[in-house]
Amino acid sequence: MVTTHILGFPRIGEHRELKFALERYWRGEISQQELESAGQTIRRHNWTKQKESGLGYVTVGDFAWYDHVLNTSLLLGHIPARHRSQTLSLDTLFSIARGKEGSGCGCSNRAASDMTKWFNTNYHYIVPEFSQDDKFEVSWTQLFDEIQEAQSLGHQVKPVLIGPLTYLYLGNETDKSFDKKALLPALVDAYRVILERIKQLGVDWVQIDEPILALELDESWLDLFKPTYESLSGSVKLLLATYFSGVGHVLETIGELKVDGLHLDLVTAPQQLSDALATLPASWIISLGVINGRNVWKADLDKWLSVLTPVLNDFSEREFWIGSSCSLLHSPVDLTLEKTLSVETGSWFAFAYQKLEEVRLLSEALDGNEKAQKACEEYSIPVRQRQKNVRVNKKEVAERIAGLTAANSVRKLDYSDRVSYQQEELKLPLLPTTTIGSFPQTDDIRKTRSAFRQGRLAENEYKTAIQQEIARTIREQEALDLDVLVHGEAERNDMVEYFAENLSGFQTTKFGWVQSYGSRCVKPAIVVEDVTRPAPMTVEWSQYAQSLTKRPVKGMLTGPVTILGWTFPREDVSRETVALQIALALKDEVDDLQKAGIGIIQIDEPALREGLPIKQTEHQAYLDWAVRAFRLSAASAWPETQIHTHMCYSEFNEIIESVSALDADVITIETSRSNMALLDAFREFRYPNEIGPGVYDIHSPNVPDVEWMTSLLRKAAKLIPHQRLWVNPDCGLKTRGWTETRAALKNMVAAARVLRKELA
Ligand code: GLN
Ligand code: ZN
Repeated sequence: MVTTHILGFPRIGEHRELKFALERYWRGEISQQELESAGQTIRRHNWTKQKESGLGYVTVGDFAWYDHVLNTSLLLGHIPARHRSQTLSLDTLFSIARGKEGSGCGCSNRAASDMTKWFNTNYHYIVPEFSQDDKFEVSWTQLFDEIQEAQSLGHQVKPVLIGPLTYLYLGNETDKSFDKKALLPALVDAYRVILERIKQLGVDWVQIDEPILALELDESWLDLFKPTYESLSGSVKLLLATYFSGVGHVLETIGELKVDGLHLDLVTAPQQLSDALATLPASWIISLGVINGRNVWKADLDKWLSVLTPVLNDFSEREFWIGSSCSLLHSPVDLTLEKTLSVETGSWFAFAYQKLEEVRLLSEALDGNEKAQKACEEYSIPVRQRQKNVRVNKKEVAERIAGLTAANSVRKLDYSDRVSYQQEELKLPLLPTTTIGSFPQTDDIRKTRSAFRQGRLAENEYKTAIQQEIARTIREQEALDLDVLVHGEAERNDMVEYFAENLSGFQTTKFGWVQSYGSRCVKPAIVVEDVTRPAPMTVEWSQYAQSLTKRPVKGMLTGPVTILGWTFPREDVSRETVALQIALALKDEVDDLQKAGIGIIQIDEPALREGLPIKQTEHQAYLDWAVRAFRLSAASAWPETQIHTHMCYSEFNEIIESVSALDADVITIETSRSNMALLDAFREFRYPNEIGPGVYDIHSPNVPDVEWMTSLLRKAAKLIPHQRLWVNPDCGLKTRGWTETRAALKNMVAAARVLRKELA
């Protein structure tokens, strides 16, 4: 009998109940008790689903109020020094994640922690902060409480924990002069306490996630695994979980660890199985991650059945588990909520609930159940039919891509020659101020869009309403005296979904939400066919905005790598091909925008970095095609058309050359949360074009004061020649309210004025 499990389940709830409860709690509309009961309902529901699907274990410890890495920090009693005076509570957790409201400037001692992307996903975690004298003391009982909660409901529980080395690896050192590895012994002691406590709760197996094993770790890290797991062994059984890429390159090391089993992601790296079987101790269980936790396509169960049947026969002595490739955190919750998909399209997908069924069905088939074997065969029919689908790999699209040459990705002039055309055209002041694109998405805007979608609002009324919003946004920006304006993106539900809806080749969903960070969820579209552009997508709105003002309005597009990165990709076509298809569509859009009188066009690529393959040795190949796709989308711009791009993350050093190779005239980036640390990358590498380092953190409701932003700008001006320095927030403002936005931008413009004076 194969045992079944998943690595984790979405925590947001079928209808994003967690999101809504959190936001109500933060607004002071519900009590902590009500918030806790909302969380409990979701957990119970998730466990019941897993049990109903017949899984051998329900996973506990995957629920988090904000983020599972932050949960681990609390569990370990390891929180940033500036939050330590407080007794640990849910509010401590939220203030680490979001900063503390009303604490004055962004530099206050209660600033939010850094947030960054979880491996190559679009999930963000709160980065642990390590300093020399850190202590670890198991202090937050959520995990233990939830284990008992699940047990009291009669579930067979498998808790999940982030492993100590991954936890340590993912954190930042607050003081660069010390090596966080020095904290490992103390950290391991705390983990032993945790595991012992879990054991006392009557648990057999703990899933301990060490996804960093899939990276190409250097020896100083790899060597730590053996002693660490030596120390951790002896209480509960440990299933070491790896995912997002293969671990074939470190199987020797893994095989020496004192654990009791290994989970392999066989979706991204099927080839590692045979080596694992040959290398790992026979007593270990192997957990076969075959159901893709981060895509929406139905699994080809029949294929897996024929691949795995001989494996199970040949290794009949070994115990196998079957499960998801990684946590289902990255997958939408329930396909049956989608009532508007065509029967054919609907038959291609499986969301988290459906994936539970896939695990069950495959395990029954592998156990020799003939009915299940037959069912697997039938299950795979639509999967295979789709692969033959005539609407993919169309000849004309393939030919347009095959016909591209290097010259198609190059602008007519170099930046150094374009810049004078742009100065002439735009006549901007020193340190021009701008924003990243979106302005607050008010309830009214949301209501307008949803009324239009549901057919309750006629098209011309909808247009008028959006135009009014654009006009208001333009007026606000003029009043604030910003230099480069934006139309505000009121017509966009989401920066990728909007394009997915306007391009052809995507399927969007109504409820396919996935957590991005905290209460923020995104609804990735699905690439189902070749991507093409039936008509201009943004020209009308940008042109309208420009008609209202003499100041330049920046057109706003989402770049090819980000559209691809934040949608569910096809499994039968390379990412590179799809990126180029999208790039061609955007190239036509750029051309239409400039012809319509838009002199500045921003092509956002916030997902460029997270698209990096897990393994370093594969980075360059990815960066090459990613850069090519971006450049292709911008290459139709005239010399006087200023191309901006935007990225919002803080680990930049590694890709700086590729960022520079994008050849955007201006790049805006996130730096405020890390106190301009990001700009270190620019110390060594002279970025040749213009830069807007974000001077305030839009992820937090704090209104930064003029002093704080001025000081950040001073730092930036030391590294970037001020002729090439821009002033802007670090991301779009759609999640903020108007009051705080107005106040923050007012201070930002004032800070730019102070600096202009100083530099003059
Ligand atoms: N233009 C987008 C906005 O302002 C960019 C968002 C992002 O980088 N994530 O919302
Ligand atoms: Zn951003």
